[in-house]
Amino acid sequence: MKRILVVEDEASIRDMIALNLRLHGMEAVEADSAERALELLADGAPCDAALLDVMLPGMNGFSLCEEIRKKDDAIGIIIVSAKGQENDKIRGLSIGADDYITKPFSVSELIARLDALCRRVNRATAEETGHLESGEFVLDESSRTFSKNGQPIDLTQVEFQIMELFFENVGVALEREKILKGVWGENYFGDVKIVDVNIRRLRMKIEDEPSNPKHILTVWGYGYRWN
Ligand code: CA
Repeated sequence: MKRILVVEDEASIRDMIALNLRLHGMEAVEADSAERALELLADGAPCDAALLDVMLPGMNGFSLCEEIRKKDDAIGIIIVSAKGQENDKIRGLSIGADDYITKPFSVSELIARLDALCRRVNRATAEETGHLESGEFVLDESSRTFSKNGQPIDLTQVEFQIMELFFENVGVALEREKILKGVWGENYFGDVKIVDVNIRRLRMKIEDEPSNPKHILTVWGYGYRWN
């Protein structure tokens, strides 16, 4: 399970973020100040990513970002800034943040960014173990198994390869042609409808309601996106 540090002094926003992370199968570690965040990081299990609000009482989010980076290169950091503070973006990224999000943001945008960040952060480990996670799904490249909430799901090799492509591009709209080339190879000249057929089958296997998919989303006129 991904462990996310949420540093936000406004309790209502912090609660909302933490609740949504938990709903998405992540663990939320909450701090109402930078000082508290540093204590939690020093004492607790390591976090995969941190969400740092800029405006905090005491030490601000930028200083916190620098403090965290002094000790930890691996953790993913997203800076959360108030709307209209464009300079904050450049500043945040220059002191070691990985991404930046502006308030107010949608929960789905935040989750997509966190997923993408955790994917990038875990890439080095993933390449060794071949073990990729996204929400309640786990894809193991060495044993070529796929599971949902710990329950194995049997996939064909093609379906497995489509899932690999999705896991490498969490939240990204993938063109049907790109899926076709990525899975069937550059020299495959078949119809892209084969992609649709496999997506339909994948939905039957992994979605709770295949007709109302929550994970493999259709991007109309373009392709599909893993959520
Ligand atoms: Ca704040």
